[in-house]
Amino acid sequence: MTDSSLTGLCATAPVSVGPAARRPTRGVTVRWGDKAVRVGGGAPVVVQSMTNTDTADAVATAIQVKELALAGSELVRITVNTPEAAREVPAIREQLDRMGVSVPLVGDFHYNGHKLLSQFPECAQALSKYRINPGNMGGGKKRDDNFAQMIEIAARYQKPVRIGVNWGSLDHELMARMMDENSRRTQPWTAQAVMRDALVVSAISNARRAEQLGLPGDAIVLSCKVSHVQDLIAVYRDLASRCDYPAHLGLTEAGMGSKGIVASTAALAVLLQEGIGDTIRISLTPEPGGDRTREVVVAQEILQTMGLRAFTPMVVACPGCGRTSSTVFQELADSIQSYLRRQMPVWKTRYPGVETMNVAVMGCVVNGPGESRHADIGISLPGTGEVPSAPVYIDGERTVTLKGDHIASEFQAIVENYVERRYGAPGSQRP
Ligand code: SF4
Repeated sequence: MTDSSLTGLCATAPVSVGPAARRPTRGVTVRWGDKAVRVGGGAPVVVQSMTNTDTADAVATAIQVKELALAGSELVRITVNTPEAAREVPAIREQLDRMGVSVPLVGDFHYNGHKLLSQFPECAQALSKYRINPGNMGGGKKRDDNFAQMIEIAARYQKPVRIGVNWGSLDHELMARMMDENSRRTQPWTAQAVMRDALVVSAISNARRAEQLGLPGDAIVLSCKVSHVQDLIAVYRDLASRCDYPAHLGLTEAGMGSKGIVASTAALAVLLQEGIGDTIRISLTPEPGGDRTREVVVAQEILQTMGLRAFTPMVVACPGCGRTSSTVFQELADSIQSYLRRQMPVWKTRYPGVETMNVAVMGCVVNGPGESRHADIGISLPGTGEVPSAPVYIDGERTVTLKGDHIASEFQAIVENYVERRYGAPGSQRP
């Protein structure tokens, strides 16, 4: 290609890359013991999750909270739906503290939250945050009184709250009133548009009422959850433009398997790219016998692949094609990614910065060497008909070539050495 063929093709300035600046919000502090995590106020986007155990079973719940926390959940929500559950919350907190599991517990309340928080003050104290759904606290004066009771308890114990509205339990009276008003418009909106508006109005009006009742404005997080991607994006854009409370993002009832992951990612990625969202939860339905921690991994991977946070070294792997007849590279990519994730609970304190490391596992010579050179550490496995050897690249330089039946264990040892050398001792990190 000659120089003249580029005329008019090149950009006049570098294309912009990366998310928009984060939406400025109030910062909410969630405390447990002498520790704290910040939501909003410019803090990194917080990953949270929710247990699916019976909270009345304190042992099972504490074990699952521990698993979620070890996977990287920075807040864990537990349902508090019965007196038996509320009674066990302090025991769950104690077990976690005994096990050295440092994560705050959020209580998820519906219908009877005002009663449970009043009747079980030790539960109210042991929780670090309350989730309140104003759409299912009764109607009329009863709803107002129940809501006020929960907010007064939150203020008394100095607990932040999430006012979480959900289209499946939207305040019927508010919706009816807004539909009435809509009917008087010269050009009435669709019922769906009114519903989206009602979600935002419900969240903000309840937050303002909570402040009038004495809860500080920097103790309130809002969520407006729906289960359709485009509705969620529209609702949160609107919410973000109308208030400065931190936003908890999540596509409710996202579903199972790849559908749940894709739908959640599609919705949250758009919002996060626009600077909207201060904490996220991925509402995946686990496969039968599936691992609850999957929702934490997915949340982390959304944030990390978007460049918003780093949690675990990432493995770049090619998809494979007809040029490679073996599954060696698939197995190696899988085993290295699992190995790296398993190490992180220890590595994150021992090797600061290791979470930003990139590892490439490639299937053949077409893109293998190039992709491996761009990674911190990479391996290019032999494709069909290629010499059965696997060159390893470290910091862009070709180093050893692995051969034989033990490529996986030898490559893992090379990764371990690299981590120790680069992240292990002060001064060993590259500039
Ligand atoms: S690197 Fe090789 S094996 Fe992997 S997708 Fe590309 S051509 Fe196929």
